[in-house]
Amino acid sequence: MLNGASRAFCWRAPMEPAGQTFGILLRRPTLRVVKRVLLGLSLVVAALLVPDCSGRTEGDLGAAPLRGRDMILVVADSFDGSHLGAAGYGRETTPFLDELAASGAFLERAISQTSWTLSSVVSLLTGVEQEAHGVMQIDESLPQSGLSTLGELFQRRGYRTVGLVQNAVIAEGTGLDRGFDRYEAIPFTADGAERLIREVRALTDAAERERPLFLYIHLGPPHMPYQPPEPFRSRFSKGASGSQVEGSIRETTDMMVEELAPSHPDVIRLLELYDGHIAYADSLIRRSVQAFESTGRSDPPVILVTSDHGEAFMQHGAVGHNLFCYEPMIRIPWILSAPGVIEAGRRVPGTGSLLDVAPTLVELFGLPRPGQPMAGASLVPELMGGGPIEDRPLLISSRYPRPGREAQLALVEGPWKFVVRRRGQSAQLFHTAEDPDELVDVLGLHPERGARMEALLEERRAEVRGSGAAARRELPEHVLRELDALGYGGQDGDGGQLGSLKGR
Ligand SMILES: [Zn+2]
Repeated sequence: MLNGASRAFCWRAPMEPAGQTFGILLRRPTLRVVKRVLLGLSLVVAALLVPDCSGRTEGDLGAAPLRGRDMILVVADSFDGSHLGAAGYGRETTPFLDELAASGAFLERAISQTSWTLSSVVSLLTGVEQEAHGVMQIDESLPQSGLSTLGELFQRRGYRTVGLVQNAVIAEGTGLDRGFDRYEAIPFTADGAERLIREVRALTDAAERERPLFLYIHLGPPHMPYQPPEPFRSRFSKGASGSQVEGSIRETTDMMVEELAPSHPDVIRLLELYDGHIAYADSLIRRSVQAFESTGRSDPPVILVTSDHGEAFMQHGAVGHNLFCYEPMIRIPWILSAPGVIEAGRRVPGTGSLLDVAPTLVELFGLPRPGQPMAGASLVPELMGGGPIEDRPLLISSRYPRPGREAQLALVEGPWKFVVRRRGQSAQLFHTAEDPDELVDVLGLHPERGARMEALLEERRAEVRGSGAAARRELPEHVLRELDALGYGGQDGDGGQLGSLKGR
């Protein structure tokens, strides 16, 4: 039950603890505080007017407007958010997600903190950067204590918690199953996807009907290989490119070895297949939601759709993800549908982060406060009260190739992006609103901004680096085989998608 103290906690931006030194938290403009106070007042009024979905009394609703509602968190792996119809993409890739965005709130720009799966999912569920949680290699796992996950927070709030994941990277032994009553790895195949939908349909039985559900679905598509079933496979193929590319992992590594341009017919064909894979993912999300709704729950579920990272197609010389912090590898969807609470059709300008998901859900659902200070911010003021997400510095890093070697790092501050390419390359500065493809380095034109952003980057990095304590684990043989099929190529982190770029 919420008491006065915890209600006050909700409206004081719960993920912004005193003592956190990163500039983002101490330099938040007063405008945000004002917006939050106004929103708080309006929501207290709204809480008295909106029907109580949880069966609790009016007084218990307090400042957590989604308390007691079912929650479905969908991650579609490797989904570049610029390929959404709602983001203005030229192909009709996402009819269902566009409907979902129109029924709720859609962030016009959202980015992940890192560009590879395991670290990114740990960040999503804990709300901290990969340097802070410390799970930075594929054979590392979440430590048993010290970081609360969304699964644990929902479970402690009385939720039944279920995770259905279609990516071996986040399956058994990663510690991500903490807090889930059930956490199941499902094969990354079309048959596996059908099974996932059947599992969703079978979730609610009479005995569990009174208990709210937190369901985490991690879809394999559109992760490579880009080989969706028909009709998605040929949906965007006009047969005009003349390319015989079939969307395999081998083809993607060959493209990097051959240094094909983004305009090459093989890359264009690969992109067609990727978009078909996105359309397939969109259909799976629609069917998953329909399967859930067919279970007879009384209230519509709250649905948040996002991804763990984006995907590149020979921009900056690479296909896939892992390697860089450039935009194609970190752009993600961020859609929240909460009928009755989030106004339909809200488009939120500014730059959101995958790290904002956990603090936002903590506030909306009135979840217990986690032990760790979260790096993102609750976006409740923007999602419910309107206005843009204010610029703040966000630390981004690519996959760390292996222990002791450096990742590519970036600091994003609204449209500005400062990139440090380790291994001897020069720093870069981009304005991603004017130059979304990051083709023009403007560091020479804005040296003071670059110096300030570099200082912020190093400040945050020094603050969080080494604070995590990931555990090492032995990867079972069948997991190694599945990782190889996904292009990860073994434990050392330099195989598969990275193999052809050794030494760059
Ligand atoms: Zn991924």
